Amino acid sequence: MLPSRFEPALTPPADSQAAPLYFVFRNGELLLQGEPAQLAPLPAQTDGLHYLGQLEDTPCYTAHYPHDDTPEGCQWVGLRASHALIGNELFQIAGRASQILEWDRSHRFCGVCGNPTRIKPGERARECTACGHQVWPRISPAMMVLVRRGKQLLMARGPHFPPGVYSALAGFVEAGESLEQTVHREVREEVGVRIHNLRYFHSQSWPFPHSLMLAFTADYLEGELTPDLYEIEDARWFDIDDLPNWPFKASIAHQLLSHVVAQIRQEEG
Ligand SMILES: [Zn+2]
Repeated sequence: MLPSRFEPALTPPADSQAAPLYFVFRNGELLLQGEPAQLAPLPAQTDGLHYLGQLEDTPCYTAHYPHDDTPEGCQWVGLRASHALIGNELFQIAGRASQILEWDRSHRFCGVCGNPTRIKPGERARECTACGHQVWPRISPAMMVLVRRGKQLLMARGPHFPPGVYSALAGFVEAGESLEQTVHREVREEVGVRIHNLRYFHSQSWPFPHSLMLAFTADYLEGELTPDLYEIEDARWFDIDDLPNWPFKASIAHQLLSHVVAQIRQEEG
């Protein structure tokens, strides 16, 4: 993975000359303009303007658009679909932006005493104006694991997957669990098999709506495949020469699959 050129910060540099980039959202959709599509300028009426940081010399901001119309010459594009239009670097900043906006929108009032909250100076936090309770953007850790048995990969699909798409197994970390415990539990619960040789691959922020995906590989140990038929509609062992459709190209699932398939091919020589 390349290091990011984006440096997060809370306040813009005083001497910034470059024209800012604006990530304007409404209902989870990003405002783009023109052909080819690019980030739109800041509309006249927005609320909740947040500075995100610098993309090299360019200050980046996010804001929520509170109206039902679409500014002239612009279009609303779902965050996932925006990847193909704005590229990976801006997509990652857009993912950060959407999570900060969603956190800001959903924490206007204190969860303890119900009074209004305000942005806390010097931190990406909101604090209660009455009791001082603080809230930060929520991040939900989730694990993903691609289980291997020789030349075969364990892939499954959920009921909401696009037709024909299978992926690695995934699930949220529960309170009190280590990542390793989550991986073993989810594999057992979702498909009824046991695994070993757990190896960390890498992680990815996944802003749908606020996950941090931590990906692993593992080897099959024992057990019959028995999909739970609730979270998992179908699970199978696929030979690497006969794989189903993969998930969204920018996802860590896609990278994990590419990595393991390349590894197996290399072993085969
Ligand atoms: Zn409070």
